[in-house]
Amino acid sequence: MRYRGRMVVLLLACASTSAPPPPAAIGAPSAPAASADAAPRPPLTTPTTPNVVILDVDSLRDDAVEPHGAPALARLAAEGVRFTTTRAAAGWTLPGFLSLLAGRPAEADLLGERIPEPLRDRLLPALMTTYGYHVAYTWGDTLLASHPDAGAWFGAEARSFPTLTDAGAHLGELSEPFFFLAHDVDLHPLDRRVELSGAARLELPSEAVRAEYRSEYASNVARADAAVGAFLTALDAAGHHDDTLVVLTSDHGESFGDHGWMGHGVNLHEDVLRVPLVIRGPGVPAGRNITTAVGTIDVAPTLLAASGIPVYAKMTGQALQPLWTGGALSERTFYAQSNAVAAARVEGDLKLLVLPPECGDDTPAGTLRKPACTWLFDLAADPGETTNLAAARPDDARRLRDDLFGWLGAQSDPESLRQSQEFKKALRKHGYFDAEPGK
Ligand SMILES: [Zn+2]
Repeated sequence: MRYRGRMVVLLLACASTSAPPPPAAIGAPSAPAASADAAPRPPLTTPTTPNVVILDVDSLRDDAVEPHGAPALARLAAEGVRFTTTRAAAGWTLPGFLSLLAGRPAEADLLGERIPEPLRDRLLPALMTTYGYHVAYTWGDTLLASHPDAGAWFGAEARSFPTLTDAGAHLGELSEPFFFLAHDVDLHPLDRRVELSGAARLELPSEAVRAEYRSEYASNVARADAAVGAFLTALDAAGHHDDTLVVLTSDHGESFGDHGWMGHGVNLHEDVLRVPLVIRGPGVPAGRNITTAVGTIDVAPTLLAASGIPVYAKMTGQALQPLWTGGALSERTFYAQSNAVAAARVEGDLKLLVLPPECGDDTPAGTLRKPACTWLFDLAADPGETTNLAAARPDDARRLRDDLFGWLGAQSDPESLRQSQEFKKALRKHGYFDAEPGK
């Protein structure tokens, strides 16, 4: 028996190897230097504070943003800064999305039935609301809307729209500055279309199946691109081309059979971890490609800095403005985890990936802390992750592995990953299978 019938939760984290300094608020009016780990404060917004839009196109691979298949996404990239080496915070939607809002690793406290109060009040929408933003969102019929805690993420005052199109039609009704986040343009139906669990590591599908999968994915990217393009047209028509920061990204990528994985869920190879990240707006140069490795957990600190809002102290992502103003970021380390089944760590060009013994056979979830199969890749020489260097470079493998397992061990008990029966139904509906950690 393989992973079929079991959802496996993936987490990706990104953190600096040392505590990063509080990011500077670049181009922001009177930005406080202190962190926001404190009681609510008066609004900081001014008439020049930018509006903020995040377009989270679910399951969007980094290589999907090209003129032929996604002209609107490519045009947006040409109008702003594109980060060409961006890793999502997870291999599936919930932890990927919440890490985006939390600006920090998708660890166990982001995955339970309820996000702990102190953390929930420090998600990006809550911070934006506290400091004077008017929050709106859309996520349609997605997995996120089914989460029992979802209503609290955006706050009682937030306005919701059924679709991105509907939001675009009502932009003029939003008080400024506004923060709008869209997540309703997802590509998830692919998972059900080929009747493969996102958590399934299977015998490599036939080339015909893989080709069909890629073709359907391309069609859905085109559909998402059209929706985003129409929204951007509406945004411009509402007079917000020059006063609004627009961020395009995704909560994870998608696999087409490489390394034996289809869809997303367990896989921690680069096809799932690498996603687009584009930022356009006031103060952001146009047509700039930045190759420095960044993460989606950097989005929240970047937007807070741009808005003059102090960054919550526990956000370990870094504001990205220095990368287009001549500065640099602290040294980065990226972590990924899959419900205590798979994990990865990226340090520079070295990537460590671990799975339990048998590497995809009937291995109980929650056993990651037991001996695991280990892969070590040099991403610079081997971007396709085809050559395992673990035996050839045992010291590197051991060092990365010790650090990775230390990170895993410091998290909450896997018990906190349990989900309600209702949410498990939603997981199945959206192409995932449920899991009971530790069983
Ligand atoms: Zn997703």
